[in-house]
Amino acid sequence: MTAAGTPLLEVKGLKKYFPIRAGVLRRVTGWVRAVDGVSFSVRTRGESLGVVGESGCGKSTLARTVLRLLEPTEGSILFEGRDLTSLGGEALRRMRRHMQMVFQDPYWSLDPRLRVLDIVAEPLRAHMSMTRRQLRQHVEELCSLVGLPSDFLNRYPHEMSGGQRQRVGIARALALNPALLILDEPTSSLDVSVQAQVLNLLSDLQGKLGLSYLLISHDIAVVEHMCDRVGVMYLGVLVETGPVDRVLGRPLHPYTRALIGAVPVPDPRRRTMGAPLEGDVPDPSSPPPGCRFWPRCPQAREECRREVPVLRFLEPDHEVACHLV
Ligand code: SF4
Repeated sequence: MTAAGTPLLEVKGLKKYFPIRAGVLRRVTGWVRAVDGVSFSVRTRGESLGVVGESGCGKSTLARTVLRLLEPTEGSILFEGRDLTSLGGEALRRMRRHMQMVFQDPYWSLDPRLRVLDIVAEPLRAHMSMTRRQLRQHVEELCSLVGLPSDFLNRYPHEMSGGQRQRVGIARALALNPALLILDEPTSSLDVSVQAQVLNLLSDLQGKLGLSYLLISHDIAVVEHMCDRVGVMYLGVLVETGPVDRVLGRPLHPYTRALIGAVPVPDPRRRTMGAPLEGDVPDPSSPPPGCRFWPRCPQAREECRREVPVLRFLEPDHEVACHLV
């Protein structure tokens, strides 16, 4: 909890639906329920929460909605007790200083026409009043913090490797000294050899700056390495949440077990956790009734097709949404 005893970030019942339009008049004929009632919190400064799940389960939409890059359909997003959904204009802009995002693909998230100096200085120019000299000095410090030498300041994104571009993205995200970074698959577009370097950098920065992370990833190993707590997401909802060692070490939900079972690791315990997943994530515009996982769940029974399982505590701080557990 923060000094005031409130969580740093508290998300309650968050929904993000996208309209499906058809016909000449583009009438709304349905909704894609990308995020469908998600609640979680990042309790303290320095805590890392991971959200893990397959592609298409709504993780990235969740990340963008938390930052209000997408407007939520329903729910609240409390940052240090203040509801972001009720803010607009200048008040929202000021709050965003405290929550910044690192995007999946650094090539597309950096303006190709700008040099590193201008990319990293962009948020500083928008939010702070600094002389050119102060700006340059601050950008040099940020670049040094993420391991980029000062001669990179004059480079354009296409003159750098993927790992170097992601370091620029991290430096830009840190420019306003945020309390929380939302990391949306920060290493998935990088070569395997570079992924570990960027993850280690993020770990070091967390230790140095006391940052909190909301880490979105499809990679269980990344979440296990980086996070204190984890939420497992399937088709727009969380199905299991709790401390990483409990959820990934002793998973209770059949989906979590299957996700872990699909990871090719030489740990014999994990091989027996669950059969690998078959089939794809269903269409979020028409999720299955009852438990959304039942068409793929090897343990599904009749009630799973009728009744929606709700998250409930099975042990302190460990919630699972499954009729069977
Ligand atoms: Fe499987 Fe039923 Fe549990 Fe859903 S509620 S995960 S279908 S056992």
